[in-house]
Amino acid sequence: MKRVAVDARLCQGHNRCIDIAEDLFEVDDEGYAHVIGDGVVDAERVDRAELAEANCPERAISVTAQRGAGDDG
Ligand code: SF4
Repeated sequence: MKRVAVDARLCQGHNRCIDIAEDLFEVDDEGYAHVIGDGVVDAERVDRAELAEANCPERAISVTAQRGAGDDG
């Protein structure tokens, strides 16, 4: 299991992440992205989370191993 996060200090609101994975990210009132819920990414969505990470021009997205879930994948 992995976790995705958006660094609000880096996000510039291009919203590429939302185009890639609208079920993982949403936009706030000012146009900046944040993760939906706790950011835990199940196996089916890891590829898109990592694609969003790779396509964020500000490198604001990180995908990291989630510990303690029984499977840190
Ligand atoms: S692609 Fe990156 S900079 Fe753009 S909205 Fe998403 S997190 Fe923010």
